[in-house]
Amino acid sequence: MYSRLVNIPFTAEKSARRKRGLTRRGLFPASLAGAALAGKSASAMRPAEPATKYPVLSTVDVLVAGGGPAGIGAALGAARAGANTLLVENHSFFGGVGAWALGMPINQVRPGGKPRSAIHELLVHNLLRYGDQAVKIGSHQLWCNVEYLKVALLDALDEVGVRYLVHVRAADAIVEHNRVAGVVIATKRGLMAVRARVVVDCTGDADVAYYAGAEVMLDPEQLMPMTLSLALTNIDKEKTRFDDIEAAIRKARKKYPLVPAGFIELETIAHGSSWYINHSGTADLGRLDATDPVQRTHAECTSHRQALQMIQAVRESDNPSLRQIEWIGAGPQVGVRETRRVKGLYVITEEDAMHGRRFEDAIAWRTGYLDFGGQKGAKFTKMKIHDVPYRCLVPEKLDGLLMAGRCMSATHAGAAAGKSMGNCMATGHAAGLAAALAVAKRILPRELSVHELQERLRADGVNLDVRDRDQRDLRDA
Ligand SMILES: Cc1cc2nc3c(=O)[nH]c(=O)nc-3n(C[C@H](O)[C@H](O)[C@H](O)COP(=O)(O)OP(=O)(O)OC[C@H]3O[C@@H](n4cnc5c(N)ncnc54)[C@H](O)[C@@H]3O)c2cc1C
Repeated sequence: MYSRLVNIPFTAEKSARRKRGLTRRGLFPASLAGAALAGKSASAMRPAEPATKYPVLSTVDVLVAGGGPAGIGAALGAARAGANTLLVENHSFFGGVGAWALGMPINQVRPGGKPRSAIHELLVHNLLRYGDQAVKIGSHQLWCNVEYLKVALLDALDEVGVRYLVHVRAADAIVEHNRVAGVVIATKRGLMAVRARVVVDCTGDADVAYYAGAEVMLDPEQLMPMTLSLALTNIDKEKTRFDDIEAAIRKARKKYPLVPAGFIELETIAHGSSWYINHSGTADLGRLDATDPVQRTHAECTSHRQALQMIQAVRESDNPSLRQIEWIGAGPQVGVRETRRVKGLYVITEEDAMHGRRFEDAIAWRTGYLDFGGQKGAKFTKMKIHDVPYRCLVPEKLDGLLMAGRCMSATHAGAAAGKSMGNCMATGHAAGLAAALAVAKRILPRELSVHELQERLRADGVNLDVRDRDQRDLRDA
C-alpha cells in the first residue's frame, strides 16, 4: 500500500526516465517520489509548469476525480486497460455515497442475479472474501457493512494497479486550448497540479467540468433532497418493529419540530441488532443546492439537528424496548442525490428510460427504478432497461474530459433513472476504458471508435445486447 502511494511519478522525473528509455510504470526511486508526499514545501519541489502556477505532483494518462461508484468503475476500467491511472478523492476513503450512507444497498450490481461485468464482480469477490459480516447479496443488490466496503475497494484498486490519493479535492481544472489537461488539487501542502491526458469527472457534482467551463445543467426548482443516514443499535428485534420507531418519532413532532416528514428503514446488515435509517431530512427544507456553500451548510447542520431530535423522540417513547436504543453514528456527510450534470453530446431523458431505448453507441445500460429521492411520496417507478450512449459521457464542447455516474449528461428525470450505484459503476467503467483507449491511440475521447470501445467492454463481461428490457426479475429497490 505504502509503495503505491510513494510511486506517483513527477513530470521532471518522467522526462529523465524517458531519456533513460525506461517504461511507464513503477521505476521511480521511492526517495524522490516520496519527497513530494512526505517532505518538501510545494514551491521547493519543482518549477511551475507554464500552463499552471502550481507545482506538478504527478503526470498520468488518466486522472479520475472522485472515488464513488462511478470513480471506482472508471479507475478500475482505465487501469485494467493498461493506463497509468490516478484516482483522487476528497474523503479519507472510497465508495462515495455507498460508503457514507450507512446501511444502504448498492443496487443493480447483479440485476436478475446475474454478473454484470468484470468490474462489478471484482467488488463482489473482494467483499465475499471477508465473509458474511461484510456483505449480504440480494436479488440485485449488495447490502454491505461500509467498513468492509472501504477495504474491499482498496483491495480492488491495488489488485488492478490504480494509484490513489485521499483527502485531495479537485479544486480547479487546467485547460489548454479547449482541452482539459489536468486538475488543480487542494492538499494540506496547498494547491498542486496533476496533469493528465484524459480526466474523468466522477465527482458527482461535475466539479471538474464546471471549473473547466463546460456547460452544466442544474435546475434549482427540481433538486432532489439530501439525506443523512443514521445507525441505531441495541435493538431487541424480538420486541421491536420499525413501525414502532416510526410511530414514536412521528408522535413527537410537536415537541421536536425538526423531525422530517419522511424517513425510511434500511435493511439490517449481517447479524447485528442495529437499524439504519435514511432520514430524508432536507425534503422539508425546500430545494437546496449542495454546490452552494451557504445552502450546503444549512443542509448539513440542520440534518444533524434533525437526527438528534429523531433519536430524542425514540428515547423518550413509552415503549421500554425503544428507550434502550442507542444512536451510534451518522454518515460523514449528507448524501447528495442531485446537483450539476454536464451537457454532453446527447442528454438522456425520462422517455429513454421508460421506453427502454436502445442506441447504436451504447456503452452501458441502466436498470432499476426511476427514483426521485427515496422519501415517502416521491415518484418511484419501475422503468425499462435502457442503453446509455457514449455521447452521454462526452462533453458537448470541451475535450480531454469524460464524465460518468451522477454527473453524466441527463435531464433531471434522466438522472433519477440512473442513480443506482451499479449503473454508476457501469458508466464509470465505460468512461475509464474509453479514456485509456484514447490515451493509447493518442486521440481525443470524442474521436474514439465506439465499436472498439464496445468490443473491449464485451471482453470485460458487459452484455450490451440485453433483450429482456422489462425487468421481470426486479423484486425490490
Ligand atoms: C441518500 C441517498 C440514498 C440513496 N439510495 C441508494 C440506494 O439505496 N441504492 C443505490 O444503488 N443508490 C442509491 N442512491 C444513489 C447513489 O448513491 C448515487 O447515485 C451514486 O452514489 C452516484 O455515484 P457517483 O460515483 O456518481 O457519485 P458519488 O457517490 O456522489 O461519489 C462522488 C465521489 O466524489 C468525491 N468528490 C466530490 N467532489 C470531489 C472533488 N472536487 N475532488 C475529489 N473528490 C470529490 C466524493 O467525496 C465522492 O466520493 C442514493 C443516493 C443518496 C444520496
